[in-house]
Amino acid sequence: MATIKANNPALKTWIKVPKNSDFPIQNIPFGIFSYQGSSPRACTRIGDTVIDLSVLVELGFFDKLRLEDASVFHAEVLNDFISLGKPVWRKTREHLSWLFQEDNTLLKDDKEAQKQAFYAADKVVMHLPVQIGDYTDFYSSMEHATNVGSMFRDPKNALLPNWKHLPVGYHGRASSIVISGTEIHRPKGQIKPADVELPFFTPTRQLDFELEVAFIVGGNTQMGESVTTENAEDYIFGLVLFNDWSARDIQAWEYVPLGPFLAKNFASTISPWIVTLDALEPFRTATPKQKPEVLDYLKFKGKKNFDINLEVSIAPDKGKESLICKSNFKYMYWNMSQQLAHHTVGGCNMRVGDMCASGTISGSSPDSYGSLLELTWKGTKPLKLKDGSERKFIEDGDTVVIRGYGEKDGIRIGFGECVCKILPTKK
Ligand code: MN
Repeated sequence: MATIKANNPALKTWIKVPKNSDFPIQNIPFGIFSYQGSSPRACTRIGDTVIDLSVLVELGFFDKLRLEDASVFHAEVLNDFISLGKPVWRKTREHLSWLFQEDNTLLKDDKEAQKQAFYAADKVVMHLPVQIGDYTDFYSSMEHATNVGSMFRDPKNALLPNWKHLPVGYHGRASSIVISGTEIHRPKGQIKPADVELPFFTPTRQLDFELEVAFIVGGNTQMGESVTTENAEDYIFGLVLFNDWSARDIQAWEYVPLGPFLAKNFASTISPWIVTLDALEPFRTATPKQKPEVLDYLKFKGKKNFDINLEVSIAPDKGKESLICKSNFKYMYWNMSQQLAHHTVGGCNMRVGDMCASGTISGSSPDSYGSLLELTWKGTKPLKLKDGSERKFIEDGDTVVIRGYGEKDGIRIGFGECVCKILPTKK
């Protein structure tokens, strides 16, 4: 593959970038923002500056790029931009990188244009970056699947017989995926604890987060057509952090035989900035060894995992954050290319904006488990927070924050935050 110039660690920008920012000039993520009630439109971010791409188009800063349709940046979601295809995403990111480099005076010396296009990140509202047609959730961390299998079934046969032969997944609910910062109400449903005879209706008593990373599909496929592991990455626009909220008590009662339903469909939270696969190129790493050997359509060449540090914190109402989990996206047993190849091998069509989440990402050490279910081992080992309180599961007023970043050659490429506060059940 040709070198991606925008990834050069030596690049510097004339925009101020605070130390340890997730958004150096080597990132150039894409998002959708609005300011003081304006209509949402496309943007990127460097340091703490949000840059309005629709204004850059209006002022001619994209002319050199000769985009077939520059109006895509005026749209309220990125689907039309993403539909232009991988060569255009790459060209656009390279162009933005060029525009903001230290020695490029084109926009640097145009204070009037900056006044129109630049916003302070803490003054804008971020929106869902894509219209999500379908959402699929995988179950691709072996450590997570093993932990859950041990708790709910049998530690000796924690993984079901299919697990190492195919990336297990289910079709989730797209309508309740919300942007970071959106508060959600504790969900209700049927539960049946082991010590009672009949189920009853209640707010969940076992609300949990799931630490995940999701990819956004970047190309349409036709029904009957399959994506191969070799070309799968042409169909992946970029990644976001993903909190797949779960109600464990509702899940335990409802999930047999068709899998999760109300336990998962009430909400999932995503981070607002889509970090492109191009920007994550420096963090490629090998997929863990797969044994037994997989079927031909799941075989792949090259490094398909990504070394992205992940962490989760909980802050009680008006309290300080406590870091409760450190994991890494590289732990995934099944990589995204295999997930997409498997998803489409039967002929299922994909559409631009579809979202595929990894499944909870746990590592092998107990502090790397990506859910409270595992961290507290079904509530039997409560966690202690900084304020002295204990958590078995999420309480009303708690805020869960997921962060993620890769770091190499002194360059940190991050996602920002995926934040959500839990409110009491809606009456
Ligand atoms: Mn999940």
